[in-house]
Order: sequence, then structure tokens, then C-alpha cells
Amino acid sequence: MASGELAAKTVHELRALISRGEVSPLDVLDDLLARIGRLNPSVHAYLEVDPERLRRQAEGELRTAPRTGRLYGIPVTIKDNICVSGEETSCGSRILAGFRPPYDATVIERLRREGALVLPRANMDEFAFGSSTENSAFGPTRNPRAKALDRVPGGSSGGSAAAVAGDLAIAALGSDTGGSIRQPAAFCGIVGLKPTYGRVSRYGLVAFASSLDQIGPLTKDTEDAALLLSVIAGHDARDSTSAPVEVPDYVASLKESPKGLTLGLPALPGAGGLSQHVRAAVDQALKVFQSLGVKTVPVELPHIDKAIATYYIIATAEASSNLARYGGVQYGFRAMDGSSRSLLDTYLDTRSQGFGAEAKRRILLGTYVLSHGYYDAYYLKGMRVRTLIKQGFDEAFTRCDAVIMPTTPTPAFRLGEKLSDPLEMYLSDIYTISANLAGVPALSVPCGAGPDGLPIGMQLLAKPFQEATLL
Ligand code: GLN
Repeated sequence: MASGELAAKTVHELRALISRGEVSPLDVLDDLLARIGRLNPSVHAYLEVDPERLRRQAEGELRTAPRTGRLYGIPVTIKDNICVSGEETSCGSRILAGFRPPYDATVIERLRREGALVLPRANMDEFAFGSSTENSAFGPTRNPRAKALDRVPGGSSGGSAAAVAGDLAIAALGSDTGGSIRQPAAFCGIVGLKPTYGRVSRYGLVAFASSLDQIGPLTKDTEDAALLLSVIAGHDARDSTSAPVEVPDYVASLKESPKGLTLGLPALPGAGGLSQHVRAAVDQALKVFQSLGVKTVPVELPHIDKAIATYYIIATAEASSNLARYGGVQYGFRAMDGSSRSLLDTYLDTRSQGFGAEAKRRILLGTYVLSHGYYDAYYLKGMRVRTLIKQGFDEAFTRCDAVIMPTTPTPAFRLGEKLSDPLEMYLSDIYTISANLAGVPALSVPCGAGPDGLPIGMQLLAKPFQEATLL
């Protein structure tokens, strides 16, 4: 086979080839590593790759991997905030540089149990704070779908999305707190699924905002998303928020026709910022749905225009609390420049030098909204609006099976374009954030291209645990 041909295949295609004995898992890995070697220096989807070590490890793992596993021999790329035993897991942050967790996250265990080869570590915005991967402490990732590589891949799972879109990965895992799987999937022209809150265990995911975070797949097609979700979903006693809900066969459910389903069409917040190309592409997708026998109804999602404000109160509050543990004692980086005279100095210096600007901004904001005198005015009020947003979805789903909207207001923007204005950057998640606040599942799939061939994504949202309907 020609070079790059195996790297371009989907999980289900490779599974068929491997199970028929037409290619070996090491052929796949070699092809992928060669492509990564050629393209990663310009795309920077991976933070580091040591092909020789990865190949040696794979040889060892394949000796014991279950041949009948649903992912036997398939490399799966992992975002840098999911713990892989013995591998550096830095969360795109200097403060965790050098941290090697002594255990696997539950999702990693589940991948390995099905015979997958785990491929760390995809670049990301520091601690998943961002929408462009420009907040990585180790340099940005570039969108391989932009011919001049001048566009962001989205974020925070930008490394995972760029790797899949550029055939530097077969499939990847990312995490989504406010859009971090779906927005980069849309920008890179691939499929991204944020599962229902509680569908996938967060054990071993480095916490950003614990009531919003979910791990999910970024893939070349929906069949791969269904397959990966089937493997990683399910209750886990080590995550008390994971739900004891049975895992359906998501792959089998793909065969069901969408005929007879009802799609809800909401009025969109901030519609002024919606690009005409995105609007036209989603309208076109809607026509396709209608031609397949899908009905449509207008639905109201009251309060989703407050989703960004609500999110930046709740998410920063949780982040400031989760990030309190990084003080140079237990994990990663410690400031050792001789100026740290006391324990307090060590904390201050470590945090000042270890965190980037966006992480500091979030810690300050989150500490403020939780502080005495402001807690009721901000955090508590934010929690109340969150409940209203969720009730809006509950109400909408009494009238439809899924809601459709764009994933992002525009196609991928240029590197540097929104860096100096954090609020502008926050607005790129205007359509993705409410799914996290409401805890509902949401899927982004490609639905066309805008000017310069930049991909456009549409988003489908459903009731909790209705991922099968979305797929
Ligand atoms: N872009 C959003 C933020 O910066 C969402 C990120 C995410 O989902 N991790 O918080």
C-alpha cells in the first residue's frame, strides 16, 4: 500500500483489514508514525512523539492484547489531560510538565481491554482553557484543513482534532467542558461527540470544571464515534458522577433510519455573529433531513443567550478550586530559582511561573465569584440560571427528538486573530456551551465548507443518554 494509505483509514476499515489478516497492526502503526514524522513538525498536533519507543511498546502490548477486542491493534490518540500510566500528562501546562501519572484513566483501561494501542499525547489549550489551542504552553497546533496552515484547529482538543483531520491519527479522545470536542471537530471537518454528563467516567481526566467535563471521541466518521463510545461508556465505581445506565450497542443503532424523528429548530442567540456560509450549510443539511422523512418544529430554548455568562461563572469557579492543588509540592513543576525562601514563596513562585495568562485569568475570576460577599451575586445566581437553561432543554425535548444548530458561528479563524481579546474568543463557543450546562449529549458532524474550503459543522443535541438517536 502507498505511504499514508493506512493512516487515512477509519477505525472500522482497519478493523476489517486486520481481522482478515490483510494488514498487521504494526503496518498501521508504522504508516501512521511515518506520517506523523513528516507532518507533525508543521501541524504540531502531538506534543512529542518518540516513534522507536512507541513501536517497541506496541510490540509488547500486542503480545497480550486480546485479538478479538473491538479495537485490536488500532492506535487511538489521547489528549494530554487524560492520564496514561507512566506517560507525561501535562495538560498543555508548564505547571504539570514532567508529571507522569502512576495509573491509567478508566477510558484508557477500557481502550486497552479492547486491544487498542494508546498514542499519547495530543496538544491542547492549557488545562482545556481555550478555543484555539493557542493557549498551550508548548506552542499552538495548526489546522491541517487550511491550505496555508494559517488557521486554528479550534480548542481545547485542537491537537486531537488536527491529528484526526490530517491523518496523523486514526481516531482520538478529547474532553469537552464547553465545546472542546465539538468546536475543533467542526473547525477541522471531522466528527466530535460530547456524551451525556455521566455517560463516560472522568476517573483519570485532569479536572477543569468537574460538573461540566466529559471525555468523548473525535473521529473520521460517525461509525467510529459509535464504536469508540461503545467502548469507553459505562458506569465506573471510581467516578461517583458516572451513571449506572446500561450502554446500548451504538454501532447497531446506526442502521436505524431517521424517518419519523422530529428535529427542533431553536432561535439562535447572537445570530448577528452567524456567518452566512454556516447558516446556508446548516439550512442545506436540514433539507437533507427533511428529504429523509424527518419532521421539524420550532422550539424555544429560553435563556441560552445567557449560557456564556453563566458558563464563565460556574466553569471558572470550579477551575479555581480544581487548580488549587498545583503548588509545586505533589505534581510537576516547582519553582527552584533560589528566590523561594518560604513555603508560601514556593507556592507563589510556582504558580506565577507555572500557569499561563489564561489559567491565571480563570483562577482570578473563579476565586472572585466564589468569594464572600460575591458568592450569592455570581455563583449562586449562575447556578440558578443553569437550572433554567436545563429546564428549557427538558421542555424542548417534550416536542422533538433532537435539536439542530450550527456548532460554531464561523469557520476556523486565523491564528492570532482573537488572542488579544478573550471575550471574542469566548464567543466562539456560543452554540456549544449550553449542552454542558444542561448535561445533554451533543454531536458535531461536518455539513459542508465555506470560503477557502474551510469545513463547517452542524450540531445535534438530544435528551440525556440518547446518543444513539444523535448518531
Ligand atoms: N472554550 C471553552 C473554554 O475555554 C470551552 C473549553 C472546553 O470545553 N474545555 O472554557
